[in-house]
Amino acid sequence: MGRAKKNKAIEIGGETVNPGDRLSLELEIAKLYTHAPLNVSIEVLNGKLSGPTLLICAAIHGDELNGIEIVRQIMARTDTKKLRGTIIAIPVVNVFGFIHKSRYLPDRRDLNRSFPGSERGSIAGRMAYQLFNEVISQCTHVIDLHTAAIHRTNLPQIRANLENQEAAAMATAFGAPVVVDAALREGSLRAEAERIEIPVITYEAGEALRFEPYAINAGVRGCIRVMRHLGMLRQSRRKLPYKPVTARATRWVRADADGIFRSHIALGEMVSKQQVIGIISDPAGSQEVEVIAPQSGILIGQQTLPVVNEGDAVFHIAFFSQPDDLIEQHMEDYRDQVKDDQDDELKWGIGTLST
Ligand SMILES: [Zn+2]
Repeated sequence: MGRAKKNKAIEIGGETVNPGDRLSLELEIAKLYTHAPLNVSIEVLNGKLSGPTLLICAAIHGDELNGIEIVRQIMARTDTKKLRGTIIAIPVVNVFGFIHKSRYLPDRRDLNRSFPGSERGSIAGRMAYQLFNEVISQCTHVIDLHTAAIHRTNLPQIRANLENQEAAAMATAFGAPVVVDAALREGSLRAEAERIEIPVITYEAGEALRFEPYAINAGVRGCIRVMRHLGMLRQSRRKLPYKPVTARATRWVRADADGIFRSHIALGEMVSKQQVIGIISDPAGSQEVEVIAPQSGILIGQQTLPVVNEGDAVFHIAFFSQPDDLIEQHMEDYRDQVKDDQDDELKWGIGTLST
């Protein structure tokens, strides 16, 4: 890295954070019925030297918790004296949903469909407006941390609009085993931030309402790799021990019957065309219906609840342009890395990052 200029102070919610400082601040976002204010806690780590302003946020869906621990670990490891640029971290964006262990807001609206929001709108619109104007619009890059929706689980993956070159470069740098080129959804943080030219990547890993070491470790490492890619931290000479692959397409496989669902495959596993990947039966198991893979690919998400109705989406499979054996090798290398991660001190605590 060349010589960097001294960083500037940053102002959020009326508070100023000087270069080299870190501050926990509260942004009042709404009021409860009791008139008590409801705040979103924001951590600002303002580096001594200038660089990008990266937002790392979690729990925009209030029941998606893995990202909260990812944010905590990144905060604990970051030294503002060595940081170039600024990290704005929001461990819990949707505080309402978080309190109720729910994806949504009290009016059943999805905060991640409410951006850029409106000053005089419903509670979802007002929260989105405040966050968008006070925080998101000040950022140059965003990493939005999610898990699968309730009763489902996801293989660690990055979703991004790969036509946006900066987002595509962040997606590659993150190093999740799979990258999915995902269309922008109206009202999502990702779509609305990109509309004002802020590249966003979405990390999806694990289940709602859980802390899962494999999803958290991959998330912490991924965010740090993106920070290195953006020049916020010193480069590492270590190479990823596996090669992330970009899906050509993804598809949900639906249940053909109502009943008890048993999965025969695990996340990250290769499936071949016509393979039986699950069974749906009556509780006693006398009438069984097979769930068949429509094409060969990698399992990137699946339902964890063992009861299904006909038409429920039960398996999410990603398809690739590269040959199956190559993709399978990359996934095996990725799984070996996960095993190594779980053996080391990184599992929960604060340690030195090796990748
Ligand atoms: Zn989500």
